[in-house]
Amino acid sequence: MKHEEIYLDPDFRKSPKGPHCHICQRALKGNSVRVYVSQESNWSNAIHPEDIGEVGDYEIVNIGPECSKIIPASYYIIKAK
Ligand SMILES: [Zn+2]
Repeated sequence: MKHEEIYLDPDFRKSPKGPHCHICQRALKGNSVRVYVSQESNWSNAIHPEDIGEVGDYEIVNIGPECSKIIPASYYIIKAK
């Protein structure tokens, strides 16, 4: 891993329906970002896109504009044009 994993502390107590922020589990409003995460039952780590080949299990999640402030922009998945 070239880049540090970023520890996230999602609020998994809620069980939202529809598109929601991975961290606060609230419905998405505004510009969300997408990141790779490796997820366990009660925490998850954001993975840098350059390191994703070294991670066995990962998911792509949406994170809302407020919660995404703890994650550097270099970790965001850039949409292919
Ligand atoms: Zn959030």
